[in-house]
Amino acid sequence: MLSSCLRTVCRRTPTVASRAFSTTSPTCAADVKTLGVLGAGQMGLGIALVAAQKAQVPVILVDSSQASLDKGLKFADKLLEKDVAKERITREAADAARALITPSLKIEDFNSVDMVIEAVPEIPDLKTSIFTKLAQIAPKHAILSTNTSSISITKIAAATTTNPNDLQAPARVVSTHFMNPVPVQKGVEIISGLQTSKETLDTAIAFVKRMGKIPSVLADSPGFLANRILMPYINEAVICLETGVGGREDIDSIMKNGTNVPMGPLTLADFIGLDTCLAIMNVLYHETGDSKYRPSGLLKRMVDAGWLGKKSGKGFYDY
Ligand code: NAD
Repeated sequence: MLSSCLRTVCRRTPTVASRAFSTTSPTCAADVKTLGVLGAGQMGLGIALVAAQKAQVPVILVDSSQASLDKGLKFADKLLEKDVAKERITREAADAARALITPSLKIEDFNSVDMVIEAVPEIPDLKTSIFTKLAQIAPKHAILSTNTSSISITKIAAATTTNPNDLQAPARVVSTHFMNPVPVQKGVEIISGLQTSKETLDTAIAFVKRMGKIPSVLADSPGFLANRILMPYINEAVICLETGVGGREDIDSIMKNGTNVPMGPLTLADFIGLDTCLAIMNVLYHETGDSKYRPSGLLKRMVDAGWLGKKSGKGFYDY
C-alpha cells in the first residue's frame, strides 16, 4: 500500500536536506484519514474547517481553552452560514463539514490521527514542548506538522527526539504554513527540517492540495519567505507611525491606494495579531543577528499593553 501510494502521490523532487538525510515515515497523503488540529484560534480553526470541507476528513480540534473552542466553532458556524446564504455550498455540505469537526480539550485525543497540524501561539518554547508531547501521543506513522510563521522546523523536529521508542519521529515533522484567512488564501509554505523525510514532505504537499491549496516548497530559513518579506514591511510601517512620518490612516491609505494592496500595513498587522507580528520579528532578529530586523519599540509596547489587534478588540484601530 505504502509503495503504491508513494508512486502515485509522491512525485516531488526531494529537498537538498531530505536527499542528504533520507529516512522513512510510513504514511502518505492518501492515508491521511483523520486529522488533528492543535489550537482553535484564527489559524487552527480555519485549517480545521477547510480540511473538513475540502479534504473531507474527520478533524479532532484540540485547544487548552474551552472559551477558544467555543469562539472558534461559533465562527465556523458563521462562515458556513455565509457560504450557504451566498449559495457557494449547499446546506447538506455545510452540515456535513461541521459534523466532521470534533472539539476536545485533551491532546491525548490525537492518539489515533494520521496527521497533526499544530497552530498554537508563535512561542518557540511552547512549540517545542508541544512537539515533544505530540511525538509521545500521536501514532508512530502520523505526520507532525507545524503552522509556525518563523521558527526553525529543524529545531521543532529536534524536540521530538526525546522519545526513545520513536527515533524516527523527527523525520515525520514538517511545516505546512497556511496563510490568513485560511478559507480564502490559497498559498501554503511547505518547509522541511534537516530531519524531514521525503515521504513526509510529499504527504504534506499532497494533503494541502487535497485542501484545495497551492503549496510552495521553501528552505528552513528564519521567517521562511512570505514573512521574511511581509514582516519587515509591517515593522517599518509601525516605525513610521512611531517616529511621526505619517498618521495611521495616512500610512494605510498611501499603501492601499498607492500600491494596490487590499489593506494597509497597520490594518493588516491588526488582522494578523500584533503578538504574532512581534514574535516573528523577534525570530528574524535573533536568528539572523541582523539589526535590520529589530522590532519596533511601539510594537513591543502595544503587545505589553495587551493590544493585540482584532482578536483582542484593540490594536492600531478599535474593533
Ligand atoms: P491565536 O492566538 O489566534 O490562536 C492560538 C490558539 O492556541 C488559542 O486558541 C489558544 O487558546 C491555543 N493554545 C495556546 N496554548 C495552547 C496549548 N498549550 N495547547 C492547545 N492550545 C493552545 O493564534 P493564530 O493567529 O491562530 O496563530 C497560530 C499559529 O499560526 C502561530 O504559530 C502563528 O505564527 C501562525 N500563523 C498566524 C497567522 C496569522 O495571520 N495570525 C498566519 C500564518 C501563521
